[in-house]
Amino acid sequence: MFHKGMYIIWPDELYIDQAVKAGIDTLLVNLNDGTPRSETERLCRKYHDQGVTVVPTVALVQPNYALEDDEQFFDGTNRIPHYYCPTSSERIDKLLSVPLHLCKSWAANAVGIDDEDYVPGMKYHENYTQYPCQCQRCKTLSVDQQRSMHADMIRQALGEIPLYHMPHINPYIWRIGSVWCNEHTYEKWGAYDRVLKNTRKMKKKTISTRNISGVWAEKFSAHRYLDRLKSIVTSPATDGYWIYSHMRFSRNSLWRTHPETPEAIETLKSLPYQSLIDEEMPAFFEELRALNRRVDKYRSGAWFWILDKLYGFFK
Ligand SMILES: [Zn+2]
Repeated sequence: MFHKGMYIIWPDELYIDQAVKAGIDTLLVNLNDGTPRSETERLCRKYHDQGVTVVPTVALVQPNYALEDDEQFFDGTNRIPHYYCPTSSERIDKLLSVPLHLCKSWAANAVGIDDEDYVPGMKYHENYTQYPCQCQRCKTLSVDQQRSMHADMIRQALGEIPLYHMPHINPYIWRIGSVWCNEHTYEKWGAYDRVLKNTRKMKKKTISTRNISGVWAEKFSAHRYLDRLKSIVTSPATDGYWIYSHMRFSRNSLWRTHPETPEAIETLKSLPYQSLIDEEMPAFFEELRALNRRVDKYRSGAWFWILDKLYGFFK
């Protein structure tokens, strides 16, 4: 199956409805954007009931609050308030409680974990995963043992529920995932460098996971965005696409409603295309629907089959 996904931050149902009508079949719903819990649950249930694969997505690094002391990473000198100790099962239980509740109450199908951090001033996740936590629980374990335990505990908590993951870097949780939401394709598209190099790494570790390529909507004009989605649809190097967007598909984006905040000012400088997608291109969703209807056609035929076998060596 070819995945046609969309990441939802600051949901706007007018746009989600149009996307689903246009053939979007997977919604990764961010649980860290401040939307009230009851509202998120209603949203997930609505699209789940329409047959969409709903994937509530949480961030490993907590941007909004400091973790309990016992759940914090200890670097030997300091506790890191927003960063987790990898062997804390309490942390995992709390992290997954909402997405697991949604899955178990038939409002969602899978769980998403985003490795990236959104804490201002904090370094990327990778900077911590290189080092062992030195808390009482962890101090006799190596980095690899700690991360391995972390992945095992997440898998155990999920049971049979599939995991989608967005490993920005150092993705030690690859082996427990079902779908890799690739972020290396946000702006540039290269079948080997951006996609197969990493699937090759997974294969070496005997991990088989589906690879779907993210494309960042604020980096492209609407026409070029559709072109990029088409390159993905027509490529055997990948198993799907997902729309990554801050404000092109939502009137409720924080960057739109509070452009005066320092964070918005900084972010907006790096986003060349900020208008709503259908304001720039009124026929966008019709074009998207036409593209999605042609997925099977594009992904069949002798030439696609040959390339698929060739890429299969790397995948
Ligand atoms: Zn620890």
